[in-house]
Amino acid sequence: MNAVALGIPQVGDASSRLAHTGGQGTAAASAPGRTDSPWLLDTYGRRARDLRVSLTDKCNLRCTYCMPAEGLNWLPGNELLTDDELMRVVGIAVHELGIEEIRFTGGEPLLRKGIVDLIGRVGQLNPRPEISLTTNGIGFARRARDFVAAGLDRVNISLDSLDPETFRQLTRRPRLADVIDALAAAAEAGLSPVKINTVLLRGVNDHEAADLLQFSVERGYQLRFIEQMPLDAGHSWTRSGMVTADEIQAALAQRFTLTPHDSARMGAPAELFTVDGGPATVGIIASVTRPFCGDCDRTRLTADGQVRTCLFSAQETDLRALLRGGGSDEQIADAWRVATWGKLPGHGINDPSFLQPDRPMSAIGG
Ligand code: SAM
Repeated sequence: MNAVALGIPQVGDASSRLAHTGGQGTAAASAPGRTDSPWLLDTYGRRARDLRVSLTDKCNLRCTYCMPAEGLNWLPGNELLTDDELMRVVGIAVHELGIEEIRFTGGEPLLRKGIVDLIGRVGQLNPRPEISLTTNGIGFARRARDFVAAGLDRVNISLDSLDPETFRQLTRRPRLADVIDALAAAAEAGLSPVKINTVLLRGVNDHEAADLLQFSVERGYQLRFIEQMPLDAGHSWTRSGMVTADEIQAALAQRFTLTPHDSARMGAPAELFTVDGGPATVGIIASVTRPFCGDCDRTRLTADGQVRTCLFSAQETDLRALLRGGGSDEQIADAWRVATWGKLPGHGINDPSFLQPDRPMSAIGG
């Protein structure tokens, strides 16, 4: 059953009503059946606590499974939230809506001027949220200590190949050494655990699964494989092309003994395995073949100020219009609550009627 079948208003309706009338509607008034809890609740019993904030849709890599070689039509500068607008929204999320973690992403978040200041400003919020970053690592090494001094708590660095030539083909840039340096600098700066995100592509880098794990275990990094999702700009994803979680597990089992880790998942997307008896672990994020939507605790803010309740949402809620139209903090918070109340039970990738969202991963914020 979906939100429409449940009679839940479409999120765009509610937010635009607030935006256009300047109405003082409360979340309870705007979404039938919703209690007047301040939190970001949905009709399936989930609560969003983890906010992914995209700082830009631009990237300095061109991973073949994400972006075309020529790049995309970047968002015009005046459509991006300014630092002050962004901080106002993040402040509302933390103070009014109970968000507990802020993860900066993109595009490539390190391309955003002022990212260090933004981290510092988020670190001043009370209660202070956890602050994390997902990055391709380029340019991270020389700034790692600045990020930590500003308040960065955790980092995920993306790395799909240890072979310079495969890395260059896959990302269309010869920057493997930068990423390796970024990982070392993150550890040296005291970030722990340093996590690695890896996407495997059939016939390109899938033979490297065990090597990537070996590399990570030897250096104390925590590796997480992510199943490739239908979020590429070229809409070229195919189910048969995707390397599945089962295949990844089987490939790793040829070299390592993997034992399901007994820690509760707590909304975390990765299924964790202990490697060779531990303490090292490896995660597999089976977004497609073993979806974990029932435990989802995420909400997303695009660089142009749109709230998405899911990577695969077909709808967005325009907070930028509220911000720039003189909306109050309570109106912005209410629009977000109503959007969340309309969150669907799952991403629907495995439904016959699934349609890939218009925005690619890079423009949503991975
Ligand atoms: N540029 C940063 C980075 O490389 O980590 C942050 C944004 S990137 C979109 C975040 C993560 O999403 C990366 O680990 C990337 O490999 C992953 N990603 C991109 N497209 C994907 C897709 N279609 N399926 C699964 N993961 C994807």
